[in-house]
Amino acid sequence: PVRVRFAPSPTGNLHVGGARTALFNYLFARSKGGKFVLRIEDTDLERSTRESEEAVLRDLAWLGLDWDEGPGVGGDYGPYRQSERNAMYKQYAEKLLESGHVYRCFCSNEELEKMKEIAELKKLPPVYSGKWATAADGEVEEELAKGTPYTYRFRVPKEGSLKINDLIRGEVSWKLDTLGDFVIMRSNGQPVYNFCVTVDDATMAISHVIRAEEHLPNTLRQALIYKALGFPMPSFAHVSLILAPDRSKLSKRHGATSVGQYRDMGYLPQAMVNYLALLGWGDGTENEFFTIDQLVEKFSIGRVNKSGAVFDSTKLRWMNGQHLRAIPFEELSQLIGERWKSTGLLTESEGPFVEDAVQLLKDGIDLVTDSDTALSSLLSYPVHATLTSPEGRPIVEDKLSEVSAHLLAAYDSGELFGALEEGLAGWQKWVKGFGKTLKRKGKSLFMPLRVLLTGKLHGPDMGSSVILIYKAGNHGIVSPQAG
Ligand code: GLU
Repeated sequence: PVRVRFAPSPTGNLHVGGARTALFNYLFARSKGGKFVLRIEDTDLERSTRESEEAVLRDLAWLGLDWDEGPGVGGDYGPYRQSERNAMYKQYAEKLLESGHVYRCFCSNEELEKMKEIAELKKLPPVYSGKWATAADGEVEEELAKGTPYTYRFRVPKEGSLKINDLIRGEVSWKLDTLGDFVIMRSNGQPVYNFCVTVDDATMAISHVIRAEEHLPNTLRQALIYKALGFPMPSFAHVSLILAPDRSKLSKRHGATSVGQYRDMGYLPQAMVNYLALLGWGDGTENEFFTIDQLVEKFSIGRVNKSGAVFDSTKLRWMNGQHLRAIPFEELSQLIGERWKSTGLLTESEGPFVEDAVQLLKDGIDLVTDSDTALSSLLSYPVHATLTSPEGRPIVEDKLSEVSAHLLAAYDSGELFGALEEGLAGWQKWVKGFGKTLKRKGKSLFMPLRVLLTGKLHGPDMGSSVILIYKAGNHGIVSPQAG
């Protein structure tokens, strides 16, 4: 059976790279009818915090990547925090000591430093010399009797190579002669990261390890431990790095990189998931819009790209707009209405005004948060800013005076508001008559009218805009200049 895991270290917020790894694991599990396990890798006690763990769980849940086993939900292979699995690591370390795959190393730190220096002088790789690999039983007994601290070192074969068949990268092989015997348990009894991961993946019956490319060097050590423990090896898939637009490694200096930041900026989880899936994966067609269910249906690990994927925040924003407009209208109207109420723009979060405003403005926004500026700019009247070009040249002034005089008359007589009361049909009828009187149509009618009535040169559908402004009780509905 397919069992995959996402294994975050709770040392910070969930990064977009981590989120993509989690997503690929999730999609793989769901598409194969397998299990998605969440394991918290908190062996680094100094850097791990419960706060980070909670933040990571919250962000995964927000993305909709629900886990079948792990913190909060339990499961048959727990505990799911490495800090709670120490007894198990100890037990397997002893097993490896008994089978001779591991030996006790009594070298002091000074000795190890010296070894490194000597290797450097000889221009050899800085690997362990193997001093205690071949020690006689008597020597070991002597140190034990003296109480000398020791680590557990893994005996790496001195020659040959090891290869894996990576599901994304194909065959990956390593020569073993430069690896050197590595520590799996420190002298204070703390098991080392690579050892914990192997014991966990093996005892949690993980079938496929899907993780970031940067873990490839760990895979070599982990594969050796698998073999020594006699566990069947899982399949591996190493996903490429996420790059910034300049193709350097994506980092904080490139802007928002954590899932939480995007949530706070008003991004939708479904857009985030869709965009993350496209970082290194595609279904082979031009299509880029996918719901999570469609992703589950289409995902295949074989289609994941070997080369790095560029994180393009402009595209993510665009994608959010696509998903925003895919939300059923009633739901979208509620979402945006609540936003307008919570930001104090409106006193009510629902009703015909909200619906009309959402209908009018939704095509011009990508984020729910964009709707704030969209509405306030519609209802505001910055006529001075829009009447002049950036160089300060008047734009439609010549056309304004005639139109404004007639408009003022329509305003004074109540004719304009009467028409607006009748909604879009009323407006259309009025505007037609108004154009006839002035013998103007097209741009020469609509441009001055738009400026006078909305305060702007451009915007969404004029009739709907004007009706909304009217309904909003905006008294500046006719420009002060017109009077
Ligand atoms: N804990 C590791 C990390 O946060 C993941 C290790 C793994 O997936 O094997 O990068």
